[in-house]
Amino acid sequence: MDHFQLRNGELHAEDVPLSRIAEEVGTPVYVYSRATLERHARVFREGLEPVAKASGKEPLVAFAVKSNPNVAVLKVLSREGFGADVVSGGELVRALTAGIPADKIVFSGVGKTRTELQLGLEKKIGQFNIESSEEGRELAELAASQGLEAQATLRINPDVDAKTHEKISTGRAENKFGIPLVRAREVFGELANLPGLNLRGVAVHIGSQLLDLEPLETAFAKVGKLVADLRADGHTITHVDLGGGLGVPYKASENPPSPAEYGAMVARATEGWDVHLTFEPGRVIAGNAGVLLTRVVRVKRGGNGPPFVIVDAAMNDLARPAMYGAWHDFDAVVPVGDKMMANIVGPICETGDTFATDREIDALQSGELAVFRTAGAYGATMASSYNSRGFVPEVLVDGEQFAVVADRIPADAIMDAERVPDFLLD
Ligand SMILES: *Cc1c(COP(=O)(O)O)cnc(C)c1O
Repeated sequence: MDHFQLRNGELHAEDVPLSRIAEEVGTPVYVYSRATLERHARVFREGLEPVAKASGKEPLVAFAVKSNPNVAVLKVLSREGFGADVVSGGELVRALTAGIPADKIVFSGVGKTRTELQLGLEKKIGQFNIESSEEGRELAELAASQGLEAQATLRINPDVDAKTHEKISTGRAENKFGIPLVRAREVFGELANLPGLNLRGVAVHIGSQLLDLEPLETAFAKVGKLVADLRADGHTITHVDLGGGLGVPYKASENPPSPAEYGAMVARATEGWDVHLTFEPGRVIAGNAGVLLTRVVRVKRGGNGPPFVIVDAAMNDLARPAMYGAWHDFDAVVPVGDKMMANIVGPICETGDTFATDREIDALQSGELAVFRTAGAYGATMASSYNSRGFVPEVLVDGEQFAVVADRIPADAIMDAERVPDFLLD
């Protein structure tokens, strides 16, 4: 459920008509709903209640910052008690800026630099998820040299097919992430006794936009077996991080598992583990809490097919369709009831700048407003300035009020960071 609904014939974000935001901020613009973010945060937490009950320990929910790193969005989730899963120094600073306590921050990622490891140590973050023995040794050495101790888990690669898009699948043997399960005991043993490191558990994340719980349950069963093996090896295992990945419905026909179904599965899969669990949801929290509001530039007659509805948003603002062939529902802000067949495209000089082909949509004319739905995750954060288009702004709605939470960065401001060197000046 989200708070982008028709009222008196016009699409609103909570109590704000989208046309008002378009007028005041311009288009294209990302619009987020605070109430939707909060609702999703609470539903996710409620879904985990059986887990909390079964384990007797409150799980840590660490929002995957990469899905929507806007500081205001992080602030909303921080106030809901969420921690943060970060994958770069930049995200770490954002999480702290939003007021997320350092001990609720988990640092994931296969390529953390020495500088980033150091930043995490300095800020005393709650957990590093280590992805290789090389990284583990570097972190241990860095911490020990300063008299510190890093809290860490070892990320394993369970080699399961998440049955999602190949570019967002992370848990197969051929993916770059984690330690292959067959080597996990050996690597864990190698790192466990290093000074500077408290290796206290394992982490897993098999992919994103999962519409089926079965691959997750398979992966968690492998984790459970590994935890038992590690304990048999004499290690103390107190923490397990189960990652993120729960999918969202991009179209009506998609029916992802609910957080309640997910929570019930997790409670079953982790029975008797006796560990502190961490979850790293991103998309399921932020996806349906945002839309990309756009204006039709013009409608161009097609060649053989339907007309091209050319909107002022493009693949640089919302990359998912070009990158993953992803579907985003597209709705008029003031639908009149008529429908049309259309190809929805942006202005960028690439055929890939296509949001939809041969799609039945609300009838639209030049100058009218529309939204791409489910754009709150992996939307603004993937934006680029390709075609010198500048960066799209972001707005957060709260009931009847709204605020610009990220300014539009115009193309000339980006150009201002460029220099023509002396040797090119005559
Ligand atoms: C991307 C990512 C997530 C979040 O995935 P969602 O599908 O958005 O829930 C969580 N953990 C890690 C390590 C990730 O890379």
